Formats: sequence, structure tokens, C-alpha cells
Amino acid sequence: MSQGPFHVIFLGAPGAGKGTQAKLLVEHYQATHLSTGDLLREAVKAQTPLGIESQAFMSRGDLVPDRLILGMIKDKLQTLSGNWIFDGFPRNLHQAKAFDELLQELGQSVTAVLNVELPLELLVERLTQRRTCKTCGQIFNLKLNPPPLQCRESSSPCELYQRDDDRVEAVSHRLDVYTSQTEPLKAFYQHQNLLVDIQGDQPTDEVYQSICKALNI
Ligand code: AMP
Repeated sequence: MSQGPFHVIFLGAPGAGKGTQAKLLVEHYQATHLSTGDLLREAVKAQTPLGIESQAFMSRGDLVPDRLILGMIKDKLQTLSGNWIFDGFPRNLHQAKAFDELLQELGQSVTAVLNVELPLELLVERLTQRRTCKTCGQIFNLKLNPPPLQCRESSSPCELYQRDDDRVEAVSHRLDVYTSQTEPLKAFYQHQNLLVDIQGDQPTDEVYQSICKALNI
């Protein structure tokens, strides 16, 4: 990949480490990180009309309808400049095609699609062991990467919560949805010569190194 701003899409199943890696990139490089999952969770928390309409889809592990997602993304796209990272979007072919058109209108393009690969058993384990700190937003794994005794942003230990859709009942459905709706995007981006496979089954910092190498940064 040539030097210049990076415009990245993270592909990969739920639990593959997309959010963790996107946050690492943002810590090291100035970049806009757009996670449609995070934006939707904020909308649910604030009980905006978007949040109210989305929450049942999310807790079941289904995709939120494209019209809602594309409406939310369009607003954000206007402000994009420099490096940017999309994490959790696009999630199906219709979104990917619509995204291409929107970017074309803005005179922007994707520079790489990072496909973080992880075996299914590990995905299930990672999702069900995942916890997030309410205060600092860091993501932990109870077994692999337990939270520190002191939170980054307060003097007490991290206050952990589990996402509704990380409960075991929703996890296998989310993985099925990924296989049927999102995985076909690999071929779509391979066709555009943008796809880079990243081995997600390595320590976090090694995955991060592979990503930097792929982005030539
Ligand atoms: P994530 O945090 O990316 O795993 O997303 C959590 C949930 O938000 C998903 O299971 C979907 O219900 C919803 N969601 C996030 N991004 C999208 C998207 N691009 N299209 C449809 N639904 C989405």
C-alpha cells in the first residue's frame, strides 16, 4: 500500500478483535474510528429514535435494518478527513455497495480491508469472556487479558459489564449472521484488490504489528 492517509475497513467475525485493534491504531495514529456497534449502543443508551428502533435487533444478534445504518453513516461521512477506520460496517453486500457510492460522491476511497481471521471455537470463547469497563471503555477478556487492579480513568478497579449480545444465547446466532451476510464481503473486496488477511490468533501486539505492516505504517 502506498503512503498517505489510511482508509480502513475492519472485516472479521464478532470477537475477532476488530474493536481492540482499531483502538490501538487510534492510540498511535491520528484517525477517526467509526464503530457502528458503538454508535448504536450509544443510541440505545440515550433512547434516541434510532436506539429504540435498533435495540430488539441488537439483543437478538440480528443486523439492524440497512436504512437505519446508512442514515447514521451518511451523517458521519460528511466530516471524514485524514485517516479513518470503519469497524463493524459494512456488514452485508447492500451496505458495501452503498458505501462505495457514498465514498465516490465524496471523492474518497478505501485503501485496505483488514480481514481478521479467528477459528470459530476461539470466537465463542472470546465473546462470552469479553467484558468492558464502564469508566474507561477498555475491552478485556476474563481469561486472556484480565482487567488491571486500577482503571485508567479512576483510582478504583475497572467496573465491568457484559454486553447483552455477548451472552451465550445470542453469540451463536451472531456468528451465523456473520457467515451468511458479512462473509461474502471478502470476495467483494478481494475483487477490488483491497482484502488483506490478518491472523487474529496471536497476542494482541503481534496482530497489531501485522496490521501496521499491511498498512505500511
Ligand atoms: P458490533 O459491536 O459491531 O458487534 O455490533 C453489535 C450489533 O449492532 C450487531 O450485532 C448488530 O445488531 C448491530 N450492528 C452493528 N453494525 C451494524 C451494521 N453495519 N449493520 C447492521 N447492524 C449492525
